[in-house]
Parts: sequence; C-alpha cells; structure tokens
Amino acid sequence: MVRAQQVHKSYGQVEVLKGIDLEVRAGEVFCLVGPSGSGKSTFLRCINHLEKINAGRLYVDGDLVGYREKNGKLHELKDREVALKRRDIGMVFQRFNLFPHLTALENIIEAPVRVKGEAKQAARERGEALLARVGLADKAGNYPSQLSGGQQQRVAIARALAMEPKLMLFDEPTSALDPELVGDVLDVMRGLAEEGMTMIVVTHEMGFAREVGDALVFMDDGIVVESGHPREVLTNPQHERTRGFLSKVL
Ligand code: ADP
Ligand code: MG
Repeated sequence: MVRAQQVHKSYGQVEVLKGIDLEVRAGEVFCLVGPSGSGKSTFLRCINHLEKINAGRLYVDGDLVGYREKNGKLHELKDREVALKRRDIGMVFQRFNLFPHLTALENIIEAPVRVKGEAKQAARERGEALLARVGLADKAGNYPSQLSGGQQQRVAIARALAMEPKLMLFDEPTSALDPELVGDVLDVMRGLAEEGMTMIVVTHEMGFAREVGDALVFMDDGIVVESGHPREVLTNPQHERTRGFLSKVL
C-alpha cells in the first residue's frame, strides 16, 4: 500500500528525512515510533501530499505520490489530481481539528457531501452508522465543545472514514488526551484494524503497538534505525538508540 525508497525531505538547509526505505502492506497496522523531531510527522505529511519530497520515490497503492511517470520522466500532478488522490487517504491528528461550528454529524458528512457530491440524506445515514461504530450514536447533534477530547478524536476518526479511505494515517492520535480517555480511542483503532484497514500509526502507546501492530519501525534523526515485528523490536531491540528510546516510553 505504501512504498518508500530513499525518501529525502529538507526544509531549507535542514534535512529532516535522510533516505527512508520502508514498505507497508495492505491490511497491515504499521507503527512508526521514535523521539520527537525524528521526522515521523513529516513522513506522514509526505504520504498525504502535504509536503513534497526532495529525492527518492514514494508510492501509495502503486502510484507515485505527487507525480506521474511517463516515458521515464516525472511530471508533477496538477492540484486537482492531487486532491483526487488525497481523498483516498484519511488522516487523524493529535489535535482533533474538528470544525467547531458544526455538530459531530455535520463534521462527518461535510466532505462526502461537498467533495464527493453525496446526497445529504444518504450521507447522514452513513454518518450516523459511523458515529455508532465509534461508540457515539447519541452524540450526533453535539458540537465539538460539548464533547470530551476522546469523543472528539473518535468523531475525527469517523470523519476520516466517511471518505472511505484505503489508507489511514494516525499522527499521535492519543497524545493530547487525558489518560482515562485513551483506551476508547485505541479500541476504535483496534476495531478498524480487525476490519482490515491499512493503518500507519505514529504512537508512543507501546501496548497498542505490541497487541495490534503487524510491523514497527523505529525512526531517529530522519533515518530508519530498525524495524521488525513489534513484539520482536520491543522485547529485543538491536540498537542502542532504540533501547534508549524504549527505556523512556515503556
Ligand atoms: P516528529 O513528528 O518525529 O516529532 P517532525 O516531522 O515534526 O518530527 O519534525 C522533524 C524535524 O523537522 C524537526 O526538527 C522539525 O523542527 C522540522 N520541521 C518540521 N516541519 C517543518 C517546517 N515546516 N519547516 C521547517 N522545519 C520543520
Ligand atoms: Mg510529530
């Protein structure tokens, strides 16, 4: 579903991604862990067309991100083409980023109606089903300010799912939550994983990585330091940097 080959990304003189190689298979829960500033968010933003890579190749579902390859040459995609590609990727941020002036249900149906042209009634029915799926059937009419952080994050997940993405990106989805609200969000993510959604999850929740993850990559300073099955990496890290990081988060 995702293939990165020697992906480089710089901001000005500062190289943030220094040659990332990795592969995410369809249906996999792929955990990305590493210290703050290691480039995790930047990598997700590259996958989601929010940043352009400077070198290497990045593919989502077999297609180059941001470019079309023709006769061995790369052509930049037009904004309209990028917008089409982005529909297939759902993203959930640390801060829930719901529209404050829209109810939970309105937040969910906004993109399907406006971007995909879905009929409002059909979108509402799907939206209600999505709210039920994230355990919030009774909150359709609530505004974000009337929901807890954990509930807002579950609405944000439902909103992403409303576009029927083939890939979901989670950037520290529980880091901003009070500890007692983390479990409900992780449960929703676990359910998604069981249904076969391909997910890249940046997280410090090593319990989740161990139980739900199919693969884990430890990133530091813009490179992949080590990767493997989560249980393997978490119980038997091979690199000093991984051990140092895990000793702080476990
Ligand atoms: P992580 O998500 O692992 O904490 P980030 O991808 O957010 O790391 O950031 C990696 C590095 O890139 C940091 O040093 C950060 O300051 C830098 N960086 C991120 N975004 C920008 C930007 N838009 N402009 C300049 N530097 C940035
Ligand atoms: Mg980040």
